[in-house]
Amino acid sequence: MARLSDPVTILKGVGPTKAKQLAALNIFTLEDLICHFPRGYEDRTRFVSIADLEVDKPACFKAVVMNTPRTHHIRKGLDITKVQVADHTGRLNLTFFNQKFTTEQLQYGGEYVFYGTLTGDYAGYQMTSPAFERIDSAPVVTRRVLPIYPLTAGISNATMIKTIRQAMAVCDTPREIIPEEIRRQYGILPAERAYQAIHMPASMEEAELAKRRLIFEEFFVFSAGLSLMRASREQKAVAPYQKGDLSPFYTSLPFALTGAQQRAIGEILSDMQSGKPMNRLLQGDVGSGKTMVAAAAAYLAVQNGQQAALMAPTEILAEQHYTGLSRLLSPLGVRVKLLTGGMTAKEKKEVREEMASGGADLIIGTHALISESSAFARLGLVVADEQHRFGVAQRSALASKGTAPHLLVMSATPIPRTLALIMYGDLDVSILDELPPGRQKVDTFLVSEKMRARINAFIRKQAEEGHQSFVVCPAVEEAEELDIKAASVWAETLQQTVFPDLRVSLIHGQMKSGQKEAVMADFAAGKADILVATTVIEVGVDVPNATLMVIEDADRFGLSQLHQLRGRVGRGSAKSYCILTSQNKNPETLARLKALCNTNDGFRIAEEDLRLRGPGDFFGSRQSGLPVFRVANLACDLKTLKQAQAASARWIEEMGTEDTPEAETLRRRIGELFRRSQGTMN
Ligand code: ADP
Ligand code: MG
Repeated sequence: MARLSDPVTILKGVGPTKAKQLAALNIFTLEDLICHFPRGYEDRTRFVSIADLEVDKPACFKAVVMNTPRTHHIRKGLDITKVQVADHTGRLNLTFFNQKFTTEQLQYGGEYVFYGTLTGDYAGYQMTSPAFERIDSAPVVTRRVLPIYPLTAGISNATMIKTIRQAMAVCDTPREIIPEEIRRQYGILPAERAYQAIHMPASMEEAELAKRRLIFEEFFVFSAGLSLMRASREQKAVAPYQKGDLSPFYTSLPFALTGAQQRAIGEILSDMQSGKPMNRLLQGDVGSGKTMVAAAAAYLAVQNGQQAALMAPTEILAEQHYTGLSRLLSPLGVRVKLLTGGMTAKEKKEVREEMASGGADLIIGTHALISESSAFARLGLVVADEQHRFGVAQRSALASKGTAPHLLVMSATPIPRTLALIMYGDLDVSILDELPPGRQKVDTFLVSEKMRARINAFIRKQAEEGHQSFVVCPAVEEAEELDIKAASVWAETLQQTVFPDLRVSLIHGQMKSGQKEAVMADFAAGKADILVATTVIEVGVDVPNATLMVIEDADRFGLSQLHQLRGRVGRGSAKSYCILTSQNKNPETLARLKALCNTNDGFRIAEEDLRLRGPGDFFGSRQSGLPVFRVANLACDLKTLKQAQAASARWIEEMGTEDTPEAETLRRRIGELFRRSQGTMN
């Protein structure tokens, strides 16, 4: 018997070449193979006679070969093989393209099972390239439900089927981790049967059952992971904060905090005084003032003799937080430092030394800070801004560190409740549901290309009134087929031909970080009238003097992303506007964009967005920090998710902290899932 962890190369017919091809699908071990699930099935169980074959309805039929297959070489790269088959109800001509070798196996007088689709009309029927196998062979491509696998160059579906079969034949399926009681309660197949059935289902119904079981399992593992992570953090005792006097902080603020901000700070303070590490999500729409809440938390940590780290998703944002927070907190005696990749080696070294010696109190940087957390003298608080890129894998990495700092995760994207369960099941939640006073609604318009002259006039008007405009494009480089207005080309056009007398600048993700910061800082200082940008400005950037956000080809963005972008304006006292341009004529697309014109409610927009696009796209693919599920789909499988969550909670409670083999298997699986999810972070 082979082991699940054995490499695929122990299988017959899998040499270095095939191993490499499989690696492209992240398949390295037998377990990876067995966990390479079909993306769908083809029901090849329907059996008819030749006379009963119907056009366009694929089916299996039994037939005898009536002549020797003849291959004609038509031209280079095109061989046509013809053969006639028959059963007691009729005859049928079969045609194969470029399958000389396969069809040579068809022997005159032999009996086979075919699976294919009839074409033609009463003038003549035929079938092209049916799958077939000998009547006495085991059903592989006919007479069964055929799994359809995700494939890669060099590996056909047939090869995949064969290879997975081989793997299943030489080793056991992954261990059962769902207790029998739970399986019975929720009507869940046992592991071994589920793995057999997902690859070789006897019927479509069985395939469904198998899939349901595996989805349940993924959610079960994931929920258990969140619970265990939370439990392990909560087990760590930390010294309760003794000092909770925020009045110096309040006094130094240029404004009064909103009720929601005060409430959130109160919740944070009580976490910090509880003697357990805080695990809190701070959720609030763009502009709701999350930074001040983070500042209060940092102030509390420092007041209690600890260090705080504030992680931003981009260097631009880190820089901006640094500027704002050092102005606010330095007078209160907090030593604020910035650490980003764009700094010189010498500067970085200095800051690191101050982190390690305790000479710095609040260190602001990108997520790279987390990997340095061991280098802090007494890290007491970690704040992650714009959380959706600070996923579960990062939290688990943090939780596994020796000391357990308080954790505050801040989210600008209002997360639909269902998705929040998945991403933040391990966190308590504070919500900022109130905007600072004086905020105005950003008037939003959807326009077509015909309005171009008026858009330009409107941009000019902002500049004449001393205000600034953002112009956001979906991509950086001109993608020919997609007709996207690349930011760089567009910036050039605007500067050269439309606004030669205004100052147009450009920022995009492919620029060096120092360059980006310089452009951003100049724009914030009013040194440019128009900033053409890609979505690098999406998160957090604060330029109160900007009053217009033009989003080109808005249909290429998700609703939540558009809402985020719109949140970049309307931050000062002047009336602000958002213009969405689109050349898309699809009524659904236009309705989607209109929804944005009609509401400023981030939660409603988010629910709509999730419904329309599914969770992967919802947060922008790859940067989501969402767990990577193999079978489960967050948008569709919510009922199963809830069941699995309830089941895993109960199980963990019963299991306690015992070290049973089941618990160990579960922990290993959790680790794998979290690690896999980490891969999506960069
Ligand atoms: P976000 O929640 O999007 O991160 P910020 O923290 O960047 O929001 O705050 C947006 C703007 O509102 C900033 O300019 C900030 O100084 C300002 N602000 C925050 N809280 C208040 C308040 N209570 N009253 C007035 N302005 C505030
Ligand atoms: Mg922010």
